[in-house]
Order: sequence, then structure tokens, then C-alpha cells
Amino acid sequence: MYRLSTRCVHAGDTRDAQGGLHTPLYNHSTFGFESTQDILDVVEGRRPGNLYTRYGLNPTIRSVEKKLADLEGAAEALAFSSGMAAEAATFLAHCQAGDHMVCIGDVYGGTYELLAANLPRLGITTSFVLGSELDSLESVITEKTRIVFFETPSNPNMEVFDIRAISRLAAAKGAMTVVDNTFASPVNQQPLEHGADLVVHSATKYLGGHSDLTGGVVMGPAELVQPIWGWRKNLGQMMAPEVAFLLARSLRTLVVRVRAQNDTAMAVAGFLESHPAVVQVNYPGLSSFPGHDTARRQMSGFGGMASFVYDGNAKETAAVVDRLRLYAIAASLGGAESLVTQPVTTTHHGIDEAEQQRRGIVGGLVRLSCGLEDKEDLIADLDNALAG
Ligand SMILES: *Cc1c(COP(=O)(O)O)cnc(C)c1O
Repeated sequence: MYRLSTRCVHAGDTRDAQGGLHTPLYNHSTFGFESTQDILDVVEGRRPGNLYTRYGLNPTIRSVEKKLADLEGAAEALAFSSGMAAEAATFLAHCQAGDHMVCIGDVYGGTYELLAANLPRLGITTSFVLGSELDSLESVITEKTRIVFFETPSNPNMEVFDIRAISRLAAAKGAMTVVDNTFASPVNQQPLEHGADLVVHSATKYLGGHSDLTGGVVMGPAELVQPIWGWRKNLGQMMAPEVAFLLARSLRTLVVRVRAQNDTAMAVAGFLESHPAVVQVNYPGLSSFPGHDTARRQMSGFGGMASFVYDGNAKETAAVVDRLRLYAIAASLGGAESLVTQPVTTTHHGIDEAEQQRRGIVGGLVRLSCGLEDKEDLIADLDNALAG
């Protein structure tokens, strides 16, 4: 098998009849057939064919799905209109009323709301286990638990969870493990290889990589991915062909982008660690970081995301953030432009103070998404902002 960069460029792509080097954009909502027998053959599954775009039966969408599956070492991938769409369809396809899920560590705000507020209305409940409470995991997984879900590294404290150990524990209890691999990207971490059953991504982040598309994907073995297909179809959560085309374009440069971002984040984390106004740096690549050993075992790079705690309260920290010139104040991550957020003012705003404290979301916490600018410029920007 080819290595990852080669597969990013070529997987899923077919040369078209005109000699075009990759799959063209078929923005069509539907496709024509020669005869009734012809359309029946596709509808009844005797042959694959392009039928209707909302079903995902569109060559541009199928092509990017092949590329995505290949990059995670999965048999199949399904593309969605967003990361949340991919997660929602995955949970709905694999859980029904009376079933239970376990969510480990901090997760994306939308994921938390889906699990804590939306799915309970359908009789699907979730137990939340913090990273500091992992010893209790075995007892929290019951015979009703269908899915154990987590992000690693997680948002915003970059907690690293042992994919193999957790997958084993879940499997022993009859539950499947779903990993949100958005922060790492398949360049740095391949959860299926470490025993996860399914992987989900917000393609809006590193996979898209340019802050100009919204998408999601789920990858895994056919028997676990196929049940999700019907939910995507009937909830109408399809990725648009235009987005699929743009995503395929972005994926061809995924490895070079992410490796540059790894390198920059490592340099930024090292700078922050040595800065007197910084009391803590969360970055899996630092040997001082608690998850470093696990990260070294399951990651081949440590990612472009880092967070740190400034020696000041929320207001003083906001002043540091406001002095940054290159890091733009914005939600999201993974693009060419470096971004900064202060979780208490954005992703974790409105969570009561005791809960924030319990989750290590302090006023001085700042999250950085390192982009593709020169690392020297980014470090100078931080140095200037921290100097006041
Ligand atoms: C952004 C994000 C999501 C949600 O993705 P959308 O594309 O915004 O729906 C899920 N998980 C993580 C880790 C994210 O960063």
C-alpha cells in the first residue's frame, strides 16, 4: 500500500473521459437512466450507479468518500453536511430508546448538547466521565451501553485518552468505541488501528483546512457504516457535491499542512512553556504534559492545537487575547489562519463556575489553533501580547 501523502493525492480519484486528472464536480441533483430495467438494477442494488445526490449516489461524493476511507484505513466512509450531522446520524443509527452511551472527557459543545439535551428526549441517555474519573469507567459501562465516545486530544485541555485500553474495556462489555479524531486528523492518529470501531470528523477543521467549508464524515467497517447510510439519507444530512469537490482538493495537501502545523504548535508550546507569565501549557508533544507517553504510543505527530493558562483572571487574559494580531479571535480550528479562543468567553461560556472549575476551564485558559503562518511570526505575536 502507498504511504499517506501519496494516498492523499490519489486515493478515490479517477481520471475522467476528457483526461482530467481527478474526479470532476458533478453538481447534479439527479442522474438519467437508459431504461426502466436500468434504474431498477440500481434501485434494487444489482449494480452500483448514480441515482440521486441526497442518497450520496453521486460520483463526486463517492470519490471523496473513497479518499476519506482510505486515509483512516477504513473500509467505508460517509460524508455529511457537518461534523454534528455525522455524529448525530452515527448515534441514531446505533442506539435506540432505552440504550445508553458513555462520553469520556471534554467534548465539543455541540456534541455535549446533543448527548445531554437532545438524545435523552428520544430515550437515549449518556453518562459523562471526566478524564480524572477514568477509574470508574468500567462500572459506568452497563449492559445497556451501546457506544463509548471520546475525543483525543480533547478540547480545550488537550487531554489524551488511550484508544486501545478504552476500546478493549468497551468491547469486553459489548459496547462499541467511537472516536472523534478531529483534533489529530488521520495524519497524526489512526484510531481504527488502535481498536476503535468508528471514527468521526468535523471535516470543517483540518480535513477542509482552509476555513471555507463545513462538512463531516464517519469511517469504519461496512457493517457499522452501512446502518448509518439510511439515517443520513432520510434526515437529509448529505454533503453537497460542491463541498465534496472542495474537500477532495483540500485533502490532497492534508499531510503537508498538518505536518507544518505540528511543527509550529510544538515551537509555540515550547515558547509558552518558558514564558514567565504562563503557568501551564497543554500540548501532547511536551514531555512535561501528563498525556505525553500515551500520545507517543498512539500518535505520529502531536497536532496543531495547544492551550495554555495565563497568570491572570479572565479579564486580564482577555486583554492578552485582544493584543494578538496574527491569531484571529474566532471559533473553529485547523485552517491556514491561526485562531485563538478563550474558552470561558466562547465554547464554555455560561457553564456554571463550579462545573468549569471541575473541568479545568479557568479564566486564564487560552486555546490556540496554529495555522500555516511562519512560526517565528506567531511566536513574536504571542510574545508581544504577553508582554502587555
Ligand atoms: C467542530 C467540531 C465538531 C462539530 O463539527 P461541525 O462541522 O461544526 O458540525 C465536532 N467535534 C469536534 C472535536 C470539533 O472541533
